[in-house]
Amino acid sequence: MNLKETLGRFRTWQNKPYHNSDEEQEEHRCANCGNVFRGNYCPVCRQDAKDGRITWKWVGKSILDVWGLDSRSLPNTLLQLFIRPGRLIGAYLDGQHQICYKPFNMLFILAIFYVVVQQLLGWNYAATSEDKGGIFIQQVVEWISEHPAWNAMLISVAMIIPTWLFFRFAPRHTRHTLPESVIIQLFMNSLILIFIFLSEFFVYISFVLVPVYYYFAYRQLFGYRPWGTIWRILLCFAVWALFFVIIVNLINTVTTNPEILPQMAIRLLPFLAAFVGIIALGYFVSKKNAQPKT
Ligand SMILES: [Zn+2]
Repeated sequence: MNLKETLGRFRTWQNKPYHNSDEEQEEHRCANCGNVFRGNYCPVCRQDAKDGRITWKWVGKSILDVWGLDSRSLPNTLLQLFIRPGRLIGAYLDGQHQICYKPFNMLFILAIFYVVVQQLLGWNYAATSEDKGGIFIQQVVEWISEHPAWNAMLISVAMIIPTWLFFRFAPRHTRHTLPESVIIQLFMNSLILIFIFLSEFFVYISFVLVPVYYYFAYRQLFGYRPWGTIWRILLCFAVWALFFVIIVNLINTVTTNPEILPQMAIRLLPFLAAFVGIIALGYFVSKKNAQPKT
């Protein structure tokens, strides 16, 4: 098999790696609600047809559901996020919720894992300088390096609105909704947390992997051409950076020096103007180039 064929197969697999197995035809009585039915799951209460008395096999399967190689397990979902991020998120948005671990639970478990490891290994992000009145942008950079996990969360929060507006008229997942945009960022945030975790061992790796994976995921998910994907992501990051400058400076001012809040608000006005301007630019250019709705 030559390289082209191998790549072609990989692409096909990326698009649709699963096929659901045939239904169980035998009649079951549901151990949970007593309903009699045919199929893999009880249509009344959704209990698995195979569930009943607790056996070692059942215990093993339950553990595998979370940690093992079942398609809905956490490791498998993370693997899919690494190999086919945009396809996985797209399929989930299209309603295929059984192909992966629940994104809320995934992010929750990863965040807990991160915090526990951080405590165990004693990673320490204590402030490097006491002088909080320092240079404007420097405050932001310091804050980011002191709060990597919060930073990961804020990246995703800051990406919800620009992604929703700039990719609204994309060839794929056109006019995706705001809640869908939140779900997209839940998946992306799980990836970012892992990259930030990795950057404890390989310094700065998250600076490479985060933009690369945003590109990789958005290209698969929304179907814009490479350049169309790149400039929109760059605008998203610009919005994110401005959001950060505004939020971090406001938080620092309120917590350390509340009496200079009015001056700080005036200093932040140009950043706010740029923030609004970039959002409007990305939205209207995308809208102008929109494909007619099919
Ligand atoms: Zn039932």
